[in-house]
Amino acid sequence: MGTSVNTRGARPWWRTLILWIDSNSVVDNPKEGIDYVRILPFIGMHLMCFGVFWVGVSPIAVGVAIALYLIRMFAITGFYHRYFSHRAFKTSRLVQFIFAVIGSSSVQRGPMWWAAHHRGHHRHSDTELDPHSPNSGFWRSHVLWFLQQENFATRQERVRDWAKFPELRALDSYDLLVPVLLAVSLFFFGGWVAEQFPASGTSAAQMLIWGFFVSTVALYHGTFTINSLAHRFGRRRYETGDTSRNNALLALITLGEGWHNNHHRYPASARQGFYWWEYDITYYLLRLMAAVGLIWDIRPVPERVLAQGRSQGQTKDRPNDQAANPTPNNPVNHSDS
Ligand SMILES: [Zn+2]
Ligand SMILES: [Zn+2]
Repeated sequence: MGTSVNTRGARPWWRTLILWIDSNSVVDNPKEGIDYVRILPFIGMHLMCFGVFWVGVSPIAVGVAIALYLIRMFAITGFYHRYFSHRAFKTSRLVQFIFAVIGSSSVQRGPMWWAAHHRGHHRHSDTELDPHSPNSGFWRSHVLWFLQQENFATRQERVRDWAKFPELRALDSYDLLVPVLLAVSLFFFGGWVAEQFPASGTSAAQMLIWGFFVSTVALYHGTFTINSLAHRFGRRRYETGDTSRNNALLALITLGEGWHNNHHRYPASARQGFYWWEYDITYYLLRLMAAVGLIWDIRPVPERVLAQGRSQGQTKDRPNDQAANPTPNNPVNHSDS
């Protein structure tokens, strides 16, 4: 970690390849715009999904794809987001590491990179400093932001609290390692199933395409909707000074993250569905983990915030409620506490 690649002046394309292996090698003077060599794996992930036309489909391959979507979505929402970005509960170093590894198999970089950018989003919501401001257009907020060279490096100053864990720093630097291990394991698992249960209709390649590529790409776009759609479509309960919204459909596909206006109102809470009818599967699973002692000190939503929400009801839009008018109510600092 930390081989310093000098990025002053033109960087030959082959030096960018080093970044695929050691993400932290880029540190100085990132160029503006999209780095096409660096994003080839991201494009490749999408192209590989077309492999379904060659490898066919079987119930077990689709089942594995769905299971991996759900498990990894929980690792992203419960741990990358609520734990690593907002410290909404406490856990042991072992559980922290296990879910950092599962999260890292989602091919959304390491936990420190993810948390650093997300903390920036809360601190500078919808402004120019927001890495995925919705004001920069749908595609920028959905995917283009992390394809820019300037957002490749982890903003270390925002995640100093995690830097003391060498295992987390390693996951951040070598962020392709876990995804590659998952892909290879799925390939061999598919081959084993095909051999043991020929009637299952699966194969090594089929398990790889469905279990890794299709599942991961679905997981990508499910996660990214919170940065793009959840700042555009839905209802607002709180005047948060940004464009965040509550959206029941997005809460379904992201296991509870769609209550995004709630979340911007009080980011420090482990809970994003504030009321019983706002289903928040991530929160239910976290409660389950707390019940068996795997996590503890879950941070609740303060009663005053719940009472404020009850008295206001939800509206589709609130007038004069844009990023240009931040309110004192916006507790952005909770994200870093
Ligand atoms: Zn947001
Ligand atoms: Zn957040």
